[in-house]
Amino acid sequence: MPDERIFHYCPACGSERIELRGGKRFSCPACGFIYYHNTAAATALILKTRAGILFLVRGQEPERGKLALPGGFVDPAEGAIEGMRRECREEIGWDPGPGCRFAASYPNSYRYKGVLYNTCDLFFAAEAPGLSIADLRSPSGGSPGGEILGLRFIRPEDLDLKSLAFESARQALRQEFPAFFGP
Ligand SMILES: [Zn+2]
Repeated sequence: MPDERIFHYCPACGSERIELRGGKRFSCPACGFIYYHNTAAATALILKTRAGILFLVRGQEPERGKLALPGGFVDPAEGAIEGMRRECREEIGWDPGPGCRFAASYPNSYRYKGVLYNTCDLFFAAEAPGLSIADLRSPSGGSPGGEILGLRFIRPEDLDLKSLAFESARQALRQEFPAFFGP
């Protein structure tokens, strides 16, 4: 595991002796401060419609311009399905409801403003055959600097997995659509 020092000084006492072990445990021998930079839970939805799978075009780094599934980090005191539904409401203005199926889980790492976050991504699947772009709303749709540049439906047979932002989503889509991407 690479040295990912998010602290160069102890946040508690300012000592330069802050140590990182196992890529997540920061400890300060000077004052006893300990911080675990633990894996964060994140969710995503594989939304299947007659027009294809729904993707967001990312409007910000990392991986600006690449495709992602709707989803994001789970908030404190939130369950995975609850978090996924909240992210869907925020990102596409549509709630898949409580009946989504758990589809797959893969690890991911996400670098934001120089800090590496290791995530455990939980993928859910839902089917909404008749859903179209007109039923959805992208809050920052198209605006420069917005989080989301646009929404796109892409059929699995037309999807280039290299256009996806994150490896965990590539793995989940390979698992969900083995006929197109497997083995
Ligand atoms: Zn300290």
